[in-house]
Amino acid sequence: MVIESKTKTRVIGVDIDMETTTVAIVDIRGDIIARDSFRTVDYQNVSDFIASLAERIIILAETNGGFETIRSVGISCASANFFTGCIENAANMPWKGIIPLAAMLRDRLGLAVALANDAHVSGLGEHTYGSAHGMKDFIVLSLGHGGLGSCVFSGGQLHLGYHGFAGEVGHTCVEPGGRLCGCGHRGCLEEYTTAKGMALTAHELLATSDAPSVLRSAAEITPALLAEACEQGDEIAIEVLRISGEYLGLGLANYASLINPEAIILTGDIRQTGHWMIDPLCKSFEEHVFHNIRNNVRLIISILNDADRSVLGASALAWEVKEYSLFK
Ligand SMILES: [Zn+2]
Repeated sequence: MVIESKTKTRVIGVDIDMETTTVAIVDIRGDIIARDSFRTVDYQNVSDFIASLAERIIILAETNGGFETIRSVGISCASANFFTGCIENAANMPWKGIIPLAAMLRDRLGLAVALANDAHVSGLGEHTYGSAHGMKDFIVLSLGHGGLGSCVFSGGQLHLGYHGFAGEVGHTCVEPGGRLCGCGHRGCLEEYTTAKGMALTAHELLATSDAPSVLRSAAEITPALLAEACEQGDEIAIEVLRISGEYLGLGLANYASLINPEAIILTGDIRQTGHWMIDPLCKSFEEHVFHNIRNNVRLIISILNDADRSVLGASALAWEVKEYSLFK
């Protein structure tokens, strides 16, 4: 006798990044069953993008256990508003204005679709399957190429803020009158701590120093190249990661002093910089943080790899929405 379960035991996690969109089937235990990806930038028209996304989801599901096993869909995207299901004026995406992405995909698939900001989805991924599992009060920091995002969990709940944009630590000021940021302000933390910020610091130091450095002939200065140069004793590279680490330590100390988290989970490019950035970061953090929580906030490098975190977080988001039915 074969007993068939009608319970839908899988969800789809989608990560829409400015370059690539990744789709994954994730089961109830958080195991990634199958994944597919395609280039976001190939779709200048959002309707064409949604058509392609829906088709890929259906094909992936049909070739891996059947579409009928899929319960719902969760999506991670920059500038996404969880409350409205819309992408709102995304600075780095091909589609401008307000895009009702969740509703558009729901209508094509007949499945419930939830959408949230990429930094918030990373937090959900860490809380459900990663380094913040079991924690109630924590911060997840995402260090990307040009952006520094974060999310805050408070009392076990994701803190979204009144408008859904809580956690913009990248746009807190650490250098009044400093570098001009994409947001229009000066001296934002992300201008000094992202890969782009590190490269800017390197070019400034190279311009004011005669010291020999492998960075002078590099086509692109990346966090990985900086760490490699540090290992070879390159003084400019060591100074770049020291400065970046100090700024990040200062920014996170201010953040932690306001939130009083159990831990800050570090994700993204910081892994590539190794102790060259993390040691000055920790030192600066303890120097600047509120004295009553000094030495009491854990700084943790995430156990999840960057390729999995967003789709796992999106899958956790998918479990939180009610199943969709035209008849409910
Ligand atoms: Zn800014």
